[in-house]
Amino acid sequence: MGVTGRNYEEIITHQLRARPSLSWDTHTGSQTRASRDQPLEPLPTERPAAHRVISAPSQPNPHRSVERFFLELDPPEEAMRSWPHVVVVGGGFAGLKICHVLARQPVRVTLIDKRNFNLFQPLLYQVASGLVSEADVASPLRQMVGHAPNVQILLGEVTDILPDERRLVLNGQHFSYDQLVLATGSGSTYFGREEWRPLAPPMKILEHADEIRRRLLMALEEAEQTSDPNRRAFLQTVVVVGAGPAGCELAGSLIELMHRAVQRDFKQLRQQDCRVVLVDLVERVLPTMAEPLSAAAAAHLEDAGVELRLGLRVDGIAPGRVSLSGSTGEQDLDAATICWTAGVRASRLGRLLSERTGCSVDPGGRLVVEPDFSVSGHPEIRAVGDICCYRHTDGGIPLPGMAGPAVQAGGWVARDILARLRGDTLAPFRWLDLGSMAVIGPWYAVADLRGVHLTGVAGWLVWALAHLAFIPDTENRIALFSKWMWQIATRQRTALLITGRPDQHLGVDVGLFRAERPAAPGVSEAA
Ligand SMILES: Cc1cc2nc3c(=O)[nH]c(=O)nc-3n(C[C@H](O)[C@H](O)[C@H](O)COP(=O)(O)OP(=O)(O)OC[C@H]3O[C@@H](n4cnc5c(N)ncnc54)[C@H](O)[C@@H]3O)c2cc1C
Repeated sequence: MGVTGRNYEEIITHQLRARPSLSWDTHTGSQTRASRDQPLEPLPTERPAAHRVISAPSQPNPHRSVERFFLELDPPEEAMRSWPHVVVVGGGFAGLKICHVLARQPVRVTLIDKRNFNLFQPLLYQVASGLVSEADVASPLRQMVGHAPNVQILLGEVTDILPDERRLVLNGQHFSYDQLVLATGSGSTYFGREEWRPLAPPMKILEHADEIRRRLLMALEEAEQTSDPNRRAFLQTVVVVGAGPAGCELAGSLIELMHRAVQRDFKQLRQQDCRVVLVDLVERVLPTMAEPLSAAAAAHLEDAGVELRLGLRVDGIAPGRVSLSGSTGEQDLDAATICWTAGVRASRLGRLLSERTGCSVDPGGRLVVEPDFSVSGHPEIRAVGDICCYRHTDGGIPLPGMAGPAVQAGGWVARDILARLRGDTLAPFRWLDLGSMAVIGPWYAVADLRGVHLTGVAGWLVWALAHLAFIPDTENRIALFSKWMWQIATRQRTALLITGRPDQHLGVDVGLFRAERPAAPGVSEAA
C-alpha cells in the first residue's frame, strides 16, 4: 500500500467535511459538521477535547493516538462514543454479512479489507472464461455498507495483531478494538511447490481469473498465426489441475468457450485440436458430492470434450508441461495454458494469531475456534468463514469452506455481539446445510440438496437461482442474469478481452512460449 497514515487521514477528513450531517436517532447536535459547499480548512493540529474520548473508558490505553486516529477518520456522534468498537477484518461473504447485521446498531464498526470490493468467488470461472466481466462479480464495499452511519471502511492489509493490547496494525498505524472479528478467508496452496504458482495460476482473486483468460486467449491468438500443426495443438491445450467444483466448472466452461470461439472466430484453428484436460489425484470428479452426481458430472464433461485424467499425482510443472504419475505409470502433458484449483490454505492471519495467542490451527492453517467462534483464551476475538475450523457441529465434522457456512456464521456472530451487549444469550449456532452444486455447462449443473439429487436443466435452474439470491448487489444480479440469458440464446461471450497493450502481451507471451518453455515434441520454432 502506498497510502501513509497522514495522507489517508487527509483523504478521509476531506470526505467527512464534504459530507452532510449524519442523521441518527440519538444525535445530540453537540457537533457541527461542515456542509458540502464549505471550503476546506487546514487540519487542526490539536483535536477538540471531545474528539479524544476513547472507545473503552474503563480500559486506560497508553496508545491514545490510536483512538484519535479512529475518531479523526469519522468522529462519532456524542452518543456513539461510548459504543464498543467492533473491527471486522475481511469484507468477503462472512465480513459483509457481519456489517449488514451490525449496521445501525449501537456499535461502532470498522471494516478493513485489502481490496475495496466484495468478490463473489463462485463465479470467478465465468470471468476466466470470458462469460462475464470483473465488475459483474465484484461490488464496492462502500456501496454495500458504507452508507450506514456507524460503519466506516478502511482500505489496507492487516499485517499484525496484538491481542494483549487489543490492537492491530494496518498501513503502519495501530488501531484499537473492543471486539475483533477475523474473516480473511483463504488462499491457494501448492503444497510446498511455490515455484509452480507462476506457471499454473490459481483461481482465487479477480487478477487470477484475468490471467487465466489472458493466457488462453493469447495462446489462441498465437495459434491462429502458427503454421506448425503440432505447435498449434500445444497452444490449443489447457490443463486444469483439481477436479473439485471450481476445477470442473472451469474445465466445462473453457471447453465450451474454445469450441465456440474456434468454430466462429478463428479461421485457422480446428475445433478437434482444442483440448481441456482435467487432472486430479482423486479417482472421481466432485469427490465431496454423492457418487451418482460425480458420475453424471464426469459423463457430461466427457461428452463436452473434456479429457479426465483421474487418480494421477502432479509430480512437476515446468513451463508448458505437467508431469503426472499414477498406477499406470508416468506421463507428461504439454499445454500452453495450465490452471491450478487443487489446494486451499487459510489466510495467513490465522497462523499469525496462533503465534500470538497460542491457540491451535488445523493442518490447513485454520484457527480452531470455540462454539461461539472465539479463539481460545480471547473471547473478544472471533474467526469466521474459511479462516476458522469450527468443529461444534452434529458429528463433529468441521464446517465446509463454503459461502453458505461463512454467511450463516457471520450473521450469528454479529447477532451474538449485539445479544451480549444487551445482556442476552443467543441460542447456540446451528448450521443449516443447504447443499452443494456445480455447473458443468450451459443448462447443465449437478446439485445435492440435502439428499435430493438434481442434474441437467433442473440442477442448472437451482444453481442459477441460488447464485442470484446470494449475489449481494442487485445491479450485478441483473447484469449476470441478462448475460447468462444472452449467452444461452446466442452462445456468444461478451467479455473476451485481452486487456493492456497487445504488443506487450505478445512480447511477454512469445518470450514465455518460445524462450523459457521447451518446445513440444516435434514443434517447429518458426511461427
Ligand atoms: C473459484 C472458487 C469457487 C467457489 N465456488 C463456491 C461455490 O460454488 N459455492 C460455495 O458455497 N462456495 C464456493 N467457494 C468458496 C467460497 O467462495 C468461500 O468459502 C467464501 O468466499 C469464504 O468466505 P470468507 O468470508 O471466509 O472469505 P472471502 O470471501 O474469501 O473474503 C475474505 C476477504 O478478506 C480480505 N483479506 C484477506 N486478508 C486480509 C488482510 N490481511 N487484511 C485485510 N483484508 C484481508 C480479502 O480481500 C477478502 O475480501 C468458491 C471459492 C473459489 C475460490
